[in-house]
Amino acid sequence: MKSPHRVVKMPPASGPDSIAAAMKNILVNLGEDPSREGLVRTPDRAEKALKFLTSGYDTNVEAIVNGALFTEGCDEMVVVKDIEFYSLCEHHLLPFFGTMHVAYLPKDKVIGLSKIPRIVDMFARRLQVQERLTRDVARTLEEVLQPRGVGVICEARHFCMMMRGVEKQHSGTITSAMLGAFRKRKETRDEFLALVSERHHRFS
Ligand SMILES: [Zn+2]
Repeated sequence: MKSPHRVVKMPPASGPDSIAAAMKNILVNLGEDPSREGLVRTPDRAEKALKFLTSGYDTNVEAIVNGALFTEGCDEMVVVKDIEFYSLCEHHLLPFFGTMHVAYLPKDKVIGLSKIPRIVDMFARRLQVQERLTRDVARTLEEVLQPRGVGVICEARHFCMMMRGVEKQHSGTITSAMLGAFRKRKETRDEFLALVSERHHRFS
């Protein structure tokens, strides 16, 4: 199964081309003194943090699903809601975070429920835009399960909006991806939306 993102080889962990060396250069360019006590180990810590936040490049769907597909007679909607995620916006390299609600209508196969948040994390831990993150999750489930339909709703807040520019600190962004029955049948979509809105609304 091909991943929607190319898997990128990590640069060397040390040396002039390392992330840490680039971070040190950033500190100097910000007018800071990278040799002062609080900053001495910052380039290394920042490299470690960035590698973790982008560790989704080092994994793939096969490794996550790892055979956890089961043939069931179930044809009822499966919904996993309020999946927390943290990602990095590819335009500013600043965090965006929020919750994702994922549903599918099985045809033959169901997937182990714990796998769905792990698929979300795999795509969230890459440089992203919210729209693509939402679509990546929906398309992956469609490919893996070949269900009758998939619905994904993503609610997020972006540091690049909250901390800079317009500074709309309380604005949230909602994106969705509806495939198959979720796109074609209003009842299916409405059932999903009703199940998801049975809760305190984060942005209200
Ligand atoms: Zn941004």
